Amino acid sequence: MINLILFGAPGSGKGTQSANLVQRYQLMHVSTGDILRAEIKAETELGLKAKTLIEAGHLVPDEVIIAMMEDLVASHPDVKGFVFDGFLRTVAQAQALDLLLKRHQTKVSAMLELSVPDEMVIERLLLRKEKEGRSDDNIETINHRLKVYRTQTAPVSEYYAQQGNLHLVDGTGRVEEISERLYQIIDKLA
Ligand code: AMP
Repeated sequence: MINLILFGAPGSGKGTQSANLVQRYQLMHVSTGDILRAEIKAETELGLKAKTLIEAGHLVPDEVIIAMMEDLVASHPDVKGFVFDGFLRTVAQAQALDLLLKRHQTKVSAMLELSVPDEMVIERLLLRKEKEGRSDDNIETINHRLKVYRTQTAPVSEYYAQQGNLHLVDGTGRVEEISERLYQIIDKLA
């Protein structure tokens, strides 16, 4: 199996790049943000709980996310692997994922971190607000999400660096150029 973690700040291009990776390597795309937004739309109990947190730019509790991922991995035994997008927001989630994949006789193949300057991610998110109208893409929530990223999420990168499994990728430039940078790393893993 190839299990990739696309990592980076909100607006760093994880969703866009995931779509290309999924197509090229025939993997399953897992976006915890998309799953949560679907729960909100369906007005499930989980959705109702997540809504206020997401709209304020806070993280959804680790235990909720980890349980969601355990179900997801267990219910897709036949996939070639996963592209995790926006999953791994905390070191606790990273530790839980390592254990979960180990139970399924697999592991994280690589963490790919998209580096993009703050001014650029803010610009991209405000543009996305116009196109997609996401309620958490307003400037106040964006600033809070970036703060949460720096304090709670960025340490995950160090966690995989210590395992020798972190690949830093320049996330600026054209979408296809960034994809090429990712392909070069992933093709070497196989
Ligand atoms: P995203 O679509 O990845 O930008 O996620 C949107 C929002 O969903 C985040 O700001 C968090 O509130 C929540 N969220 C998504 N994924 C996670 C996760 N792995 N852990 C905690 N909260 C998450």
